[in-house]
Amino acid sequence: MIHRYIFVVGGVMSGVGKGVTTASIGKILQSRGLTVTAIKIDPYVNVDAGTMNPVEHGEVFVTDDGDETDQDMGNYERFLDVDLMSMNYMTTGRVYQTVIERERNLEYKGKCVQVVPHIPEEVIDRIRRAAENAKADITMVEIGGTVGEYENILFLEAARIMHLADPDNVQFMLVSYLPVPAHLGEMKTKPTQHATRTLNSAGIHPDFIVCRGQHYMDQPRREKLSVFCNVKPEDVISAPDVDSIYKIPAVFEEQGLSDIILKKFGIKPKKADLTKWIAMSQVRETATKTVKIGVVGKYFSTGDYTLSDSYISVIEALKSAAWDNKAKIQLEWINSEDFETNGKKMGELSQYDGILVPGGFGTRGIEGVIAAVKFCREQKIPYFGICYGMQLAAVEFARNVLGKEGAHTVEVDEQTVDPIIHVNPRQMENIRENRYGGTMRLGAYDCELVPGTIAGKAYGVKSVSERHRHRYEFNNDYTEALEERGMKISGVNPQTGLVEIIELTDHPFFVGVQFHPEFKSRPLRPHPIFKAFVKAALDKK
Ligand code: GLN
Repeated sequence: MIHRYIFVVGGVMSGVGKGVTTASIGKILQSRGLTVTAIKIDPYVNVDAGTMNPVEHGEVFVTDDGDETDQDMGNYERFLDVDLMSMNYMTTGRVYQTVIERERNLEYKGKCVQVVPHIPEEVIDRIRRAAENAKADITMVEIGGTVGEYENILFLEAARIMHLADPDNVQFMLVSYLPVPAHLGEMKTKPTQHATRTLNSAGIHPDFIVCRGQHYMDQPRREKLSVFCNVKPEDVISAPDVDSIYKIPAVFEEQGLSDIILKKFGIKPKKADLTKWIAMSQVRETATKTVKIGVVGKYFSTGDYTLSDSYISVIEALKSAAWDNKAKIQLEWINSEDFETNGKKMGELSQYDGILVPGGFGTRGIEGVIAAVKFCREQKIPYFGICYGMQLAAVEFARNVLGKEGAHTVEVDEQTVDPIIHVNPRQMENIRENRYGGTMRLGAYDCELVPGTIAGKAYGVKSVSERHRHRYEFNNDYTEALEERGMKISGVNPQTGLVEIIELTDHPFFVGVQFHPEFKSRPLRPHPIFKAFVKAALDKK
């Protein structure tokens, strides 16, 4: 089969939504009956995103096969509704690591191993393998960073070489930005002209220029960019800010983008079908109810932008679940540290229809989270704990219901008398020796559900597979004591016996999951537990 590739590169500045653009273009091509996959190239030297600070870098998105990747992979999975693999993600570190390992294994047969061509060759191999594995008609390849940086030059080189070898089946898309300086009130194209020249100097000519900006681009600017950047006017695509990222595919289709791409590839286009997708992107406009969810945790003090990026999959899963319940969502961020310094603040939690505690690490703000869990348990506020949020719910229950005041997770208190959350014995050694990279329980694991429980009913099946990313585990020594007092173990890993889901029996909705269900929630297939949580929150109203 013929594999076709679309490289997406950024110009002018970062943070303009290259990932969503890549995902959206994949979506419109998929809506034409094509099989689409996507690859993210992260120019960092880190081997994976697991060691990157989420406040700086955004969420660590985990694949089924246990890779710790960039949050854009989550956008691809959500837009394309596909499960991507480790092979869909690469970093500079990973590429060099392979080349160096191969050199050590004498696989280059005595040749000098050089940055060029050996690094781009490895990149190309990886891209092709991912396309073949997915049997993809179209492979979207997003190159991180912006053109003109040192960091991504070898990836651009790989793309250039692929185009040289097969020009009919490789296209380039420059995602740029048209600023509107306040004192001018006019959209400026010059930075995009420069970005295009910079891309040209890497030997690459863009087939399309996607112009991000506050508003739609007008005709004069389209014509200007066409002449100065040497692309046809219809290949200059406007990507204005919209109130929901899920509307972007439709914005592209208004401009006939999938038609133009397919024509350039010489593929006979099928008629597009985006009906369900578009309906989903518009639910907010007709929804009459609103569900108010508070998210309690740390990491919240560094400004809104960063904060929402660190939890993007959780936010998207909540949105999808709300829309599926025909409701709008109002999300608020509650810094758990506030509960540690000001006990009165806790009462404010009553104004929420539901409280979610997402995953996290470390000690900061933890007592505040535990106090918030107690409040939700006692006041019967729907509670959904994810990963750390599940572990801390177990700690709270052990302390305040079982009366084990010193109970804790060993992550925070190594010497605790009641280590209700402890180190998975298999991980103990790694942690002792400071081997933190890739030492967690990562990726998809089976979970057997107990019928009749909240989780069992929500999923409506006997067994599921969910993605994990954590070092610590529920300590099975406490199972019996907890169950006697009304905490139900409703999901267990059938291979290891590890506890995956806990819930309360005398509460409208109190569920903690050791895994990260948000990674498997898709806009048109919201995650069952998120759906059940939002429904319980709406019922509380
Ligand atoms: N810090 C906890 C652990 O490592 C939870 C991790 C998480 O929430 N992702 O087990």
